[in-house]
Amino acid sequence: MEKLIYLDNAATTALRPEVFESMKPYFMENYSNPNSVYTFAQQSRNAVEEARKTIAGLIGAQPKEIYFTGGGSEGDNWAIKGCAQALSSKGKHIITSKIEHHAVLHTCEYLEKQGFEVTYLDVDEYGVIRLDELEQAIRPDTILISIMFANNEIGTIEPVREIGAIAKKHGVLFHTDAVQAFGHVPIDVDELNIDMLSASAHKFYGPKGVGFSYMRNSVKLGAFIHGGAQERARRGGTSNVPGIVGMGRAAQIAASDMEEAGRKVAAIRDHLIERVLNEIPYARLNGHPADRLPNNANFCFRFIEGESLLIMLDQKGICASSGSACTSGSLDPSHVLLAIGLPHEIAHGSLRLTLSEETTMEDVDYVADSLKAVVERLRSMSPLYEDFVKNQK
Ligand SMILES: *Cc1c(COP(=O)(O)O)cnc(C)c1O
Repeated sequence: MEKLIYLDNAATTALRPEVFESMKPYFMENYSNPNSVYTFAQQSRNAVEEARKTIAGLIGAQPKEIYFTGGGSEGDNWAIKGCAQALSSKGKHIITSKIEHHAVLHTCEYLEKQGFEVTYLDVDEYGVIRLDELEQAIRPDTILISIMFANNEIGTIEPVREIGAIAKKHGVLFHTDAVQAFGHVPIDVDELNIDMLSASAHKFYGPKGVGFSYMRNSVKLGAFIHGGAQERARRGGTSNVPGIVGMGRAAQIAASDMEEAGRKVAAIRDHLIERVLNEIPYARLNGHPADRLPNNANFCFRFIEGESLLIMLDQKGICASSGSACTSGSLDPSHVLLAIGLPHEIAHGSLRLTLSEETTMEDVDYVADSLKAVVERLRSMSPLYEDFVKNQK
């Protein structure tokens, strides 16, 4: 393929070269198991603890409150199943939202089969939960509120501070899936009253298959992986040393220029949004107009199938994603787009474009041009669109 414009950074990001360099020594020169006693293991042990300190510092936590995991899905599973197990004598009710990642939703559905009750909060047209509904949903037997920091499809950032305050007021634990947010927007777990948080390195230019969970000191969940004494005996298994080192480095870089990088990517994203909305008829922007991740644009194009759009963009070297779950063999449109109130036929024509810090104005201009041509082409083949246009006149 000649041209490659990667606008699927919500799915995964490219590893930063500096991050790769930081990982290299821990594959070859020092491959030691950080838990071994000899001096050779000291360096990898120090590197792991250094990464823990860095990450803790970035969210206002203590190093011992950071647990290294295999990624975001593991963190979500741990927080939710861990609470269910540890707190079932207190109650069996969990509150989450309808727009969570499947790592949260499917875990909750699994727990429902085990006798737990789950409230799935609705969201407004922008994908924001309603705080009064959250507060009303809390019951004496509520053990956990799990609401994502930022949505992976439409980019909407949830009112985490207010959610944290409500959770605290009612003495309910608050977990947030911060996989899309960490490294992209500032997070302070004390300021926001977050008790548990899940993050994943490959969403902020780090390696795949490694993440971290924050668990406040006072949160006493059991082990998620039984085994060795790693991660304070709560997550057994030999530490992924190169992965953890790379994640620490990626986190450090992300934090060092977060504001500047966010502003820059948002300006390019806004140019893309402006062009699409101005130049393509019957296009709509999904998600919150302001409270959204700086790199996220999500559109619906009426009379278009999201899948056809992706295939035709692919032919132009553009990697994008559709909200619809067609890849998993299902024809159902995205649960997130349905939750914000879009009818099925409109939700089907969705397109998610998520930029990286490397994306340029030229890239998005090429994408806007291509998209315009592709949408026009697909609509020219749609009898529904023809009728619609006739009726408009
Ligand atoms: C990617 C993602 C996950 C899953 O993270 P993995 O590290 O790929 O397991 C969970 N939640 C959200 C919001 C995500 O974007």
